[in-house]
Amino acid sequence: MKIHEYQAKEIFSKYGIAVTKEKLCYNTQEAIEAASELGLPVVVKAQVLVGGRGKAGGVKLARTEYDVRDAAGKILGMDIKGCLVEKILIAEGVKFNKEFYVGLTIDRNTKSVLFMASKEGGVEIEEVAKDNPDAIIKFPIDADLGLTAFTARKIAFQLFDDISLVKQATDLFQQLYKIFIDTDSTIVEINPLVITDEGKLLALDGKMNFDDNALYRQKEIEAINEPDEVEKIELFAKSKGLAFIPLDGNIGCMVNGAGLAMATMDMIQIYGGTPANFLDIGGSSNPQKVIEAMNLLTSDKKVKSIMINIFGGITRCDDVARGLAEAFKQIKVEIPIVIRLEGTNAKEGLEIIKQLNIPVVQTMGEAAEMAVKFAAEKN
Ligand code: GDP
Ligand code: MN
Repeated sequence: MKIHEYQAKEIFSKYGIAVTKEKLCYNTQEAIEAASELGLPVVVKAQVLVGGRGKAGGVKLARTEYDVRDAAGKILGMDIKGCLVEKILIAEGVKFNKEFYVGLTIDRNTKSVLFMASKEGGVEIEEVAKDNPDAIIKFPIDADLGLTAFTARKIAFQLFDDISLVKQATDLFQQLYKIFIDTDSTIVEINPLVITDEGKLLALDGKMNFDDNALYRQKEIEAINEPDEVEKIELFAKSKGLAFIPLDGNIGCMVNGAGLAMATMDMIQIYGGTPANFLDIGGSSNPQKVIEAMNLLTSDKKVKSIMINIFGGITRCDDVARGLAEAFKQIKVEIPIVIRLEGTNAKEGLEIIKQLNIPVVQTMGEAAEMAVKFAAEKN
């Protein structure tokens, strides 16, 4: 889950990190009022849940009221990488001469939270990471110790010479780490972090992503979620007890267990097809879940065939079969289906399936092959 810049900065602010004074606006009139409250110049910033706004023209400096009107008019309604700009942030314009980058993420290689910092912050940070990776310093943080003052100071000394800045940065880095841990983030970033004329560190931009699987214990974060169309479907599926991720292909999959679901998608690829989704109906599948899953699959226009791959352990094949039988009563399924049903109560399950007239095969390979063939015929 992602949040907007203004929301990230509200969280930063709660932890004592200085951010620009700013106001969220939904139209030009509000923007002009905000600008006169804050005082010119201001920066007009698109609030969208994608990166690289600056480069896309979504961040503009406005020195006059005319500029504010012009920038707000241009940015509101703009399409940035498929995201419509519906709100803008009017932030005080700040003078600075250097941009720093500070970020935290989870690093699988070191199996730790990784603290990153650079003297070369700003909109080109991605280029820096590619062309001059040494300009980004990286510190894996020991989970038991957390980010100690010692380590925070060590990082700060690599960015700043001035002792006052080092002190400020040490606090700021520790607070940023605390935010990361407290909120179950996967990314926390300040880019740019700047030094004001008064010699104070200030966060000009903020970015935060969160671990979806931790949202159950992050009620305040969950409450500000603005899911996009794909995420809405995923959340709906989750509310029904299904793990569902839409993909680009045309073969719908219904599988029990994440590992089997991965194997199923691989098998489809091996036979030259592409999966339309990852769908795990879970361990102890009740028939209702199977009905919900069939609903999801059949309402996706991309899906040209469906492969049902069940290996019954805790999941009982007859439960799945009953769910399918019920689903077929409720929904008119016109998409060709192939099913492989193996394991606990497979015999009883197959007995129920018999009346449905769905081809049943023995192995996962045969099922994938048939699903790919069906999809090809439909195209
Ligand atoms: P991003 O492109 O989505 O990361 O948007 P940012 O909020 O980081 O803004 C992009 C760039 O605009 C920054 O790196 C700064 O160079 C510039 N910028 C943003 N806010 C201000 C400001 O208050 N004053 C000035 N002079 N430049 C700003
Ligand atoms: Mn930025």
